[in-house]
Amino acid sequence: MRIDKLLANMGYGTRKEVKNLLKSGSVRLNGEPEKSPKTHVDPEADLVTVHGETVEYRKYIYLMLNKPGDLLSATEDAHDMTVIDILQPEDKVFNPFPVGRLDKDTEGLLLITNDGQLSHRLTSPKKDIGKTYFADIEGKVTKDDIAKFSNGVTLDDGYVTKPADLEILNAGEQSEIVLTITEGKFHQVKRMFEAVGKEVTYLKRLSIGELELDDSLELGEYRELDDEEMAYLF
Ligand code: URA
Repeated sequence: MRIDKLLANMGYGTRKEVKNLLKSGSVRLNGEPEKSPKTHVDPEADLVTVHGETVEYRKYIYLMLNKPGDLLSATEDAHDMTVIDILQPEDKVFNPFPVGRLDKDTEGLLLITNDGQLSHRLTSPKKDIGKTYFADIEGKVTKDDIAKFSNGVTLDDGYVTKPADLEILNAGEQSEIVLTITEGKFHQVKRMFEAVGKEVTYLKRLSIGELELDDSLELGEYRELDDEEMAYLF
């Protein structure tokens, strides 16, 4: 990797700023002053310092976002703001992307990373990773619905869902529920309730596997995963 790319990726400024930093003589490669932005380094093996401080190289970034209901789960979009648009520049340099998709109006836990393998593992239908949602429902959710969801319901395109765990928190004209599904078909939760004649009016993802949304994060706030959370994913 070129040294200017390494330094830019590790948050030492834009490529242009990094070029000036190199020119200024503040950067050393394995103890020797390094001024050329074109020099190639092995980030795992070479020692790069800036003003005497070691540049800690990291390849991957893992963020937890409390997604608000007005951002697209995409990296870029011509019309709408995306979950990547709101990231700080020092996080964007990693070229992260959302792991799977939440609908634009869905809130809650969204993982953002540049680790393609992890993303694949978490979104693969073969892996059976539970995703738990809280939802407000228009209509009375019943024990019958619990049984239907546990057996699988037929969606509008004929797909029969895998067993899902439905818990009723509150049932009336409007109901509040928690639902865990192990797959991620397009609009799945909304379509599952449609299949039993009800409508989701609010949807929030609470967890992915053992990874839970940090409820101290306000909507639109994000942070890096801590070590314990990382251990849940690997
Ligand atoms: N199911 C939905 O219907 N929407 C989401 O955003 C996630 C799951």
